[in-house]
Amino acid sequence: MSDVPVRIIRQHRRAMMMRVVPGAIEVYIPSRYQETDKCVVHFMKKNLPKAQALALPEPPHHLTEADILQLVADYQQQMSVQPQRVVLREMHRKWGSCSALGTVTLNLRLRWLERPLVEYVVCHELAHLIELNHSAAFWQIVATYLPDYKARIQRLRAAERSFYDKDTQ
Ligand SMILES: [Zn+2]
Repeated sequence: MSDVPVRIIRQHRRAMMMRVVPGAIEVYIPSRYQETDKCVVHFMKKNLPKAQALALPEPPHHLTEADILQLVADYQQQMSVQPQRVVLREMHRKWGSCSALGTVTLNLRLRWLERPLVEYVVCHELAHLIELNHSAAFWQIVATYLPDYKARIQRLRAAERSFYDKDTQ
């Protein structure tokens, strides 16, 4: 038995889905179901063993939560922007997001990334406080603070792939 934690995520969706992510097994269930529903229990029983066999270890941490928040503070100052709120939490699909109301949300999994890559994600989300889109003007802002941002995006994609590659762990 693997000791990777199982995370149940209730979501607006039709079917149940289980997937292995670094450091956890995620089980997505339609929001109308409860964890204790028969069909959910059955689904888990049937699919967990396979997922556990494929479980991936959590990548080592490069940064702490405090390091990430400090980077936000640093870039906030450099870029002269002021988020309404900064939230650091587990996100399932993205490294970060920025809402139209000025809330910057960052994925706790950023702790797995090296500092230059976290800087890129922070700079990207803070740039959305100025341009809430991915227009040429947006990328111009990112380039102002991180001229090598394209290389960082490539390194970020490579890091993402490495988390799913058991052999490199
Ligand atoms: Zn963006």
